[in-house]
Amino acid sequence: MRVVLLGPPGSGKGTHGKGLSAELRVPLIATGDILRQAIAEGTRLGLAAQADVKSGRLVADETVLGLIETRLGMADAANGFLLDGFPRTVAQADGLASLLESGGARSLDHVMNLMVPIETVVGRLRERRLCGSCGAIYNLSSKPPKVAGQCDLCGQALKQRADDEPATVRARLEVYERETAPLVAYYAQRGILRNVDAAGPAEQVYAAIRQLLK
Ligand code: AMP
Repeated sequence: MRVVLLGPPGSGKGTHGKGLSAELRVPLIATGDILRQAIAEGTRLGLAAQADVKSGRLVADETVLGLIETRLGMADAANGFLLDGFPRTVAQADGLASLLESGGARSLDHVMNLMVPIETVVGRLRERRLCGSCGAIYNLSSKPPKVAGQCDLCGQALKQRADDEPATVRARLEVYERETAPLVAYYAQRGILRNVDAAGPAEQVYAAIRQLLK
């Protein structure tokens, strides 16, 4: 199954993507995670992307399309994938369609549009914490760790993403509205958009997504 998780930062793409990836046995490919890892490792990609990621701007389409082409070419993506944070522009969506076509793959099956009011995502991003080691995602109110500041799964320290700081969150939401929200109409026109009310409790949203993917 080839699925795109679409929605603003804080809409739950990563949280639900992890569960879906385990259940459907297809890799979760998150361009933000790939870029953050490249930055941490100081690779050429990381150095090129660093300033944009830090300030909440989009990394150049060609750069992101290049890394997606490499990642989708790996064996584990041959039978399907979940994309989180990609595509983020119409040019990236066109690029993805060409990649899938040229690779002989069928087109996307579903684009899940996770719809959450802006005030809700701002609150979620303020309270979001990540495990610096295994990447598990927490929320200080709705999904707090058992021991404050410590990952339930691996015991490592939790941290806040640098770009979850309020001024950068505002910039990221503006970029979403301007560059990414047009993809809702783009995929609706192609008949593969599935709207999900993603404002409620995580278990309820996950169940709604599973229902739509049947
Ligand atoms: P995310 O983890 O998806 O919120 O992405 C974090 C940051 O990585 C974004 O604010 C962008 O700077 C960059 N980024 C991630 N995915 C993309 C993409 N598809 N196109 C351009 N920039 C991206």
